[in-house]
Amino acid sequence: MLHRLRLGDYQSSVKHGLLALEYFTANGNLLATSNVHCTLALAFSDTALNETALHHVLGAVETARACANPTAEFWALSRSSLVHGAMGDAERAVDLGKQALALAETLHDPDTSFTALNNLGDTYLTIARTMLSRQEVASQPFAEGLILMREAVGLAQEQQNPFREAIARTNLVSLLIGLGQLDEAREQGRQGKALSKLHGYRSLEIDIDAQLAELVRASGCFEEATAMMEAQLANPDVDDEPALLAKLHRSLYEMHKAGGRFAQALAHHERLYAVTLLTTVQTAGLQAQMLINTIEIEHARHEVERFQLEVRVERSRAEELDDQANTDPLTGLLNRRALDRELPWMTGRAENDRRPLCAAMIDFDHFKQVNDAHGHAMGDQVLTVMASMLRTITRGTDLAVRVGGEEFLLVLADTSLAEASAVCDRLMTSVRAYDWNALALGLACRVSVGLAAFGSHESASGWLARADAALYEAKSTGRDRVHVDERDAETIP
Ligand code: GH3
Ligand code: MG
Ligand code: MG
Repeated sequence: MLHRLRLGDYQSSVKHGLLALEYFTANGNLLATSNVHCTLALAFSDTALNETALHHVLGAVETARACANPTAEFWALSRSSLVHGAMGDAERAVDLGKQALALAETLHDPDTSFTALNNLGDTYLTIARTMLSRQEVASQPFAEGLILMREAVGLAQEQQNPFREAIARTNLVSLLIGLGQLDEAREQGRQGKALSKLHGYRSLEIDIDAQLAELVRASGCFEEATAMMEAQLANPDVDDEPALLAKLHRSLYEMHKAGGRFAQALAHHERLYAVTLLTTVQTAGLQAQMLINTIEIEHARHEVERFQLEVRVERSRAEELDDQANTDPLTGLLNRRALDRELPWMTGRAENDRRPLCAAMIDFDHFKQVNDAHGHAMGDQVLTVMASMLRTITRGTDLAVRVGGEEFLLVLADTSLAEASAVCDRLMTSVRAYDWNALALGLACRVSVGLAAFGSHESASGWLARADAALYEAKSTGRDRVHVDERDAETIP
């Protein structure tokens, strides 16, 4: 019984839908995201989880607009209208339904054109019924719905779509009954039933039968109406329609009670109560299960996010360790290990692309005396000043390395010997001009530099040995100067 609430179907469609939503959202597929939102909204509104359905219709409209797809926007608006209608927000439901209808008129597509008319007509019917239940006059929404539903019947005929025609006629009968136009209601019901019977639309036929019985009841023929409804209840197909079952038992209960047949009235009341209870319990169970699914998926997403964060933390920790291994802790410059890693790549590039490359070996003059006169800590500070000077004169493609103690190396990429010589001169000027005295009274630091250009077919170690020799030459010829290794003839241009 109550097969219409296909528990498994909703559960799995919601589960898959939510997963698909994650996937499409992550991939930025807006159209697919909008479609999945629409499907989820349907599943949630069918199980009366209207708040959740609302969240999805909003998502559907937003993504449809973001990808400028009018068809997707139509379905999103249409679904929004139905969800607001189910929540009792008649005004929003009508407004959204009208927007959908206006959009459908621009699309010239049989599916959207019919759906727009039928849904808005159905929305008016729902509004009217709600008003009736509050004892309000509902002729206005019934009349609005009637105009649209007549158009829907016409369109379905034009499209030669008997299923749509039967649906629209069924809705039309409800609207006509609401307006008290019972003769036309009967005629439309008869046509709808003939159509449904011809094409085997069992559930539509059952709905129309119930409407016809209501019509008989409305015209005051209670005995005939009772017989029709009892006959319907004997039909096993009705067992699949909980809403219809409830409607039939309610009508029969009311008619038997009014006719003084209290035993029968009580029997129908009990059946009505059982159907209502079962529907409520099943819906509640379904809602709970669907919410659990939603929570499980939220939880799974958090797990994924946590994992991604962990990976990121691990990576940055590894990068940090790598940085530490390649950086001199006092000055923050690259260390010898980093030099060994970078050098083959730089000389290889110079060789292959025939680009000039220069090495400048820099060593403080009489650094022992700096330590002796001002202390080791002041010596350290002098080294950090040098580091910032080197950073200032180098570019991103150069290397500035602390090769040991108070000795530094610049590897200048794409730099000719003449250009490198100018760079070294600028460094000498900076060192001489620096206010060392402000650091420690009487402090005055100087450096010596040995410069050599990388020669083609030369090894990296041979090249750096020449830079070292040039430095030694600078030291032995008076310090506080740059010595350029003149073996320039075979260097790369
Ligand atoms: P020159 O190079 O001009 O021949 O004389 P020098 O006094 O600089 O001679 P040398 O290169 O032999 O001595 C380097 C000194 O630098 C020895 C050492 O105490 C000092 N030194 C090396 N590393 C550090 C360091 O990290 N911090 C400090 N404060 N001093 C260091
Ligand atoms: Mg020295
Ligand atoms: Mg030294």
